[in-house]
Amino acid sequence: MISYTYMTCRMGAWKAALSAATTDGHSPLRSTGQALRLSAAGMSTRFAFTVHASNGMARAGTIAMRRGEIRTPAFMPVGTAATVKAMKPQAVRASGADIILANTYHLMLRPGAERLARLGGLHRFMNWPRPILTDSGGYQVMSLAKLRRLTEEGVEFRSHLDGSRHMLTAERSIAIQRMIGADIVMAFDECPRADRPLAEIEASMELSMRWARRSRAAFDESGGEDAGAALFGIQQGALDEGLRRRSADALRAVGFDGYAIGGLAVGEGQEAMFATLDFAGCQLPAEAPRYLMGVGKPDDLVGAVGRGVDMFDCVLPTRSGRNGQAFTWGGPLNLRNARFAEDAGPLDPRCACPTCADYSRAYLHHLTKAGEMLGAMLLTEHNLAFYQQLMAAMRGAIERGIFTDWAAGFLRDYNAR
Ligand SMILES: [Zn+2]
Repeated sequence: MISYTYMTCRMGAWKAALSAATTDGHSPLRSTGQALRLSAAGMSTRFAFTVHASNGMARAGTIAMRRGEIRTPAFMPVGTAATVKAMKPQAVRASGADIILANTYHLMLRPGAERLARLGGLHRFMNWPRPILTDSGGYQVMSLAKLRRLTEEGVEFRSHLDGSRHMLTAERSIAIQRMIGADIVMAFDECPRADRPLAEIEASMELSMRWARRSRAAFDESGGEDAGAALFGIQQGALDEGLRRRSADALRAVGFDGYAIGGLAVGEGQEAMFATLDFAGCQLPAEAPRYLMGVGKPDDLVGAVGRGVDMFDCVLPTRSGRNGQAFTWGGPLNLRNARFAEDAGPLDPRCACPTCADYSRAYLHHLTKAGEMLGAMLLTEHNLAFYQQLMAAMRGAIERGIFTDWAAGFLRDYNAR
């Protein structure tokens, strides 16, 4: 069962920071406000996170960047290979997305980072002018590449595409992300399976923290801030509170624009993930955005926002759309099911996306059964729109101060079937 006893740790400090912001002129909030005013006056803001409202640990805010504003809590559609699969960029934007994620591992292998740089970067290449976050490549090297060899220096591996040999280090990962033109660059890290012995998880976390320091140095030497980019660190430590604390302290000592919670959503289950978020969120700086990597299902997002998470990415809405699954306010639907064969109603009567406005469940069932690509396109468009409507609803509930009640109502409807 999902519990909604929201953590309120650090709230005292947060409120103190809010009141201090009106007097001392040195708090992060004050400088953020100044940055936003400068932006309004025509100067560009590299990275400014502002919290507009909070309920317990849940908070609604904005991240201002040169290529656009990101409303938080934010969901980032995954554009693995320089495309959010089955979607034109204009439709991704129309769904409500402020930022997308692209994968360093895939792009370094094809079309190649240097080629992307020669072509003017990923934004121009794929025709997405708004912010892009790139992962570091570390996770996908571990999950996709062949013949990996992990050392203090980095990871040597062979491409899953053609067997070619590559080396990914903190310095090379940052260089590739900068060539891609990422607005938010992720530190290079290693993500071990959560079921490994604690000593192994500890050694891996310590390695990731050394790589985080090298990532910071490489980003600074590359002129990342002058180019308008931001750098996020990644907390590791699996499900262990002590290791997570040490990881958070190590990252805070280096200093990053935002902090990701890595090493979750790797098979530990929702209950263990939420239990970890209950302490992990509090360990990370309140004045910076928190990003839970690779999550998740709609009920995962709601539970994580209640535990202080501001940003998410996941392949679920796009991948599910290609597999005939739709997410709706009434729960997930499998369009392959014969009960939709003569259902002339909309996919989700509460959704205003183009798919729900113009097509019936019966037609989507037919397209899915027939393996037509339009079925994947229409379901992907709906799923991405649904995820963005979910984020907008959470932001609205936080701003109105009713997030806990809203979340309970959402879960009641979502799990009713
Ligand atoms: Zn829809």
